[in-house]
Amino acid sequence: MSLPSPKRRLKKVPDKNAKVDRETVFVVSSAMSATLGWTINLDRYYYIGKTNVINMKKTPAEELLIGAHTSAQGGAYHAILEGMEIGATTVQLFTANQKRWEAKPISDEDAALFKEALASTGLTKIMSHSSYLINLGSPNKDGLQKSRHAFKEELKRCQLLGLSFLNFHPGAALDGSEEACLDTIVKSLSGLEDLLHKGSTSLVIETTAGQGSSVGWRFEHLDYLIDRVHKKIPIGVCIDTCHIFAAGYDIRTKAAWEETLCEFERIVGLKYLHALHVNDSMKPLGSRRDRHAPLGKGEIGIECFKVMMTHPKLREIPKYLETPDGPPLWKKEIALLREFAQ
Ligand SMILES: [Zn+2]
Ligand SMILES: [Zn+2]
Repeated sequence: MSLPSPKRRLKKVPDKNAKVDRETVFVVSSAMSATLGWTINLDRYYYIGKTNVINMKKTPAEELLIGAHTSAQGGAYHAILEGMEIGATTVQLFTANQKRWEAKPISDEDAALFKEALASTGLTKIMSHSSYLINLGSPNKDGLQKSRHAFKEELKRCQLLGLSFLNFHPGAALDGSEEACLDTIVKSLSGLEDLLHKGSTSLVIETTAGQGSSVGWRFEHLDYLIDRVHKKIPIGVCIDTCHIFAAGYDIRTKAAWEETLCEFERIVGLKYLHALHVNDSMKPLGSRRDRHAPLGKGEIGIECFKVMMTHPKLREIPKYLETPDGPPLWKKEIALLREFAQ
């Protein structure tokens, strides 16, 4: 049997978007190395198989999608420009005042400026964080109606700007039952089916700390929602590191992360993990209180974020800082996270 020369079978492929399948690559490359006596550098080479191209390259640290929740004051495009200034490759923003029900519509000019800013900076996977007032699981008829209307308007703004994700807190049971709240959220989300299919924005449920009567702090809640809507609408999850820790999921060490990810995979499914909010926590494990801290300055500690930047199931997921203190801190933290990913 004659094998093609190494040069023909191994070559650099410039396409960063080629399918990544590192486990398969590892098996293939080990077998090939054993057969042919090659040393293969997994980070730099690709194996050209008979039928498909498998990307053997990890995204370089500087290209990983890491950003923060930047300010859209003065127009959504400001958030993009601020992102660029702090070394971000993506950002999260509010598309309207997050503490008000009524929102100013986005003008055509604002939308054009936003797209121009995206094109000139190269930022991608932009995420909107929906208003804090919205409760899609409210037991109160009036509150629910207002929330559904405001969320629909929020989604329309995201679609107009061409955002990838609309992140939202699932809701709060208030004086009703948790299950009734979850069922109401399912109905709220199902009502968006037609609108969602008109654009390219996916909904992303944010894990909560479980403060008060809010739902979404147990992986079972996320599964309950996703299970009932995923065939109708594009939906995923954003894990907030501060929130899951406060909700009782430990992520302080590699072993703790593994266990939490196993739990997530078993109950929800890692394919639904679309994004990460990256925050340390001022409150301890299981406290069910939501207070963000700078990375390494809280109860979680810096090891969590080192693991996050090297773990094959977390490294490539878009990440958004929401740590206190704003742009100067984010600039340092983004650089630190990239350093961990080297
Ligand atoms: Zn949030
Ligand atoms: Zn939070």
